Amino acid sequence: MVSPEKTWVFWLDDLEVNLVRHLGKYFAGAFSLLLVGCLFDSAPPDPISPGANGGDYRLFPNDLGKADSAAKYFAQGVILPGHPGASYSLSFVAGEGSIPNLRLYRLIPKGDQYMYTTDQLIEGKLSEGQWRYDFNANFSSQIDWLTILEQKGKRYETPLTNLHFAGWGSNSSHISLNLWITGKYVPPAGGETPQELAKLILAGYRTAYGPAGITVDTVYLQYASSHRLSGKSFPDSLPIVAEDIESRFDSLGNGLAHPYSEALDLVLIFGFQEEGMLGLSPLFGKNLEAGEAGVVLLSTHRSSAGLQDFTAVGSEVMVATAVHETGHFFGLRHTTVTQRDMMASGDFSAEEDGIGDTPWCPGLAYLVGTRDIPVSSKFLSRKFIAGLAAYQCPDAENPMFPYSTDVIMGAFTEGQGAILAKNLSIFPH
Ligand SMILES: [Zn+2]
Repeated sequence: MVSPEKTWVFWLDDLEVNLVRHLGKYFAGAFSLLLVGCLFDSAPPDPISPGANGGDYRLFPNDLGKADSAAKYFAQGVILPGHPGASYSLSFVAGEGSIPNLRLYRLIPKGDQYMYTTDQLIEGKLSEGQWRYDFNANFSSQIDWLTILEQKGKRYETPLTNLHFAGWGSNSSHISLNLWITGKYVPPAGGETPQELAKLILAGYRTAYGPAGITVDTVYLQYASSHRLSGKSFPDSLPIVAEDIESRFDSLGNGLAHPYSEALDLVLIFGFQEEGMLGLSPLFGKNLEAGEAGVVLLSTHRSSAGLQDFTAVGSEVMVATAVHETGHFFGLRHTTVTQRDMMASGDFSAEEDGIGDTPWCPGLAYLVGTRDIPVSSKFLSRKFIAGLAAYQCPDAENPMFPYSTDVIMGAFTEGQGAILAKNLSIFPH
């Protein structure tokens, strides 16, 4: 349907520039945009362009959290991640009239711009009162789609009910980790060496992920300063302090050979600029192999008064944080959604993760006060909050409780384990 020699290239009007600015929430970099339209071999109906809210919201597979905004603006363009070879099914309660078609635009990064072109036009089917769309990602690397619903040549504007995006793949249930030591290594509170820390992390992952049917094979200890391509960004003399998941961290995935290329990159840094922050991860990572949003960050120290005062973190807190961040990487939300999470997603409908067997803490925002409010970030973090009375929260021991507390971390629930296992199967590795 799309033939490169017939491609239109045009600059965006105001509305489309809007789209790009919103996409900036999810993709690092500055945005001006070039779009590539699609020319059909056998004309009508014309494809419908992304709407004013196109690119504002995102869905990821097997998420059960409420996503009212994505449901409202789905036909204008919601971002869906696609992993090579994975299968997907989108469903929602059937509405009035004929079954709309689902158009999936493929978003193509080009420098600091994004283009879109039609990837697939999918006919829906009626199944038990739901309209359902089945599709696959037929690409060699991870991509992002933008959704449009078209009913008889018009955008299907009705807000969707019970919108669910399911995904599954056939990749291994085994996974390994690269533990990257970056810059000057300053040990955690217990004085552990990198080797000792790697062993503790491996044991912690096996305890947490084993019951979900995920086998953590091993941890490869890696030194960023020796990285063939990115080593110079991480001199051994300098403790690394991070603001975000910067591109230098993602670059550690480049140029690795099997089996390191397929291991999850867990990047150990000295600390974060943000007060109390212990770890950082994308919510649903993009790549285990090289690429954007393909790492989890973990610090040995936390900042308590700006950059003046860093405190060493206990290794048990680090292990719990690593398990927690990796849960985000494979698509788990916090058991109790925080203000910060809402700011990051732009959706204020979900107060909890939507998983039936995880408790949540309606009073958490009150307990935490305003300290967590509005830092807008596309990543989820875990912070140490002094004096947080975690015992008042029934989910305090869950690995996906949003804060580090003195409650000993318990196990993932069955519901969480099922999501982790399904999502791991989507990632080529
Ligand atoms: Zn978190």
